[in-house]
Amino acid sequence: MPSKNKTPKLDPCEYCDGFLDGQEKPVTVFRHYAGSHFIFEHVPARVCPRCGERYFSARVVREMDRLMKEQPLKLATISVPVIAFSLAA
Ligand SMILES: [Zn+2]
Repeated sequence: MPSKNKTPKLDPCEYCDGFLDGQEKPVTVFRHYAGSHFIFEHVPARVCPRCGERYFSARVVREMDRLMKEQPLKLATISVPVIAFSLAA
């Protein structure tokens, strides 16, 4: 196994030449599950400062999945307009 650099390194972004912030910051995430849409707030993510791509740890993704499946009773609900997009002729 090749020896890895032990010092904390910046992870490169998968989508551009940027490097991810070492620090997680809270972001808002839109997900859908079983035909319902969910908005998570304050989800910790590492964000590419260059292209804005957000990276979530496997633990965070699992927790979002779990929360969507459980759908606790006291969720705040907002209505979301759905627009079928088409370019005007
Ligand atoms: Zn990027």
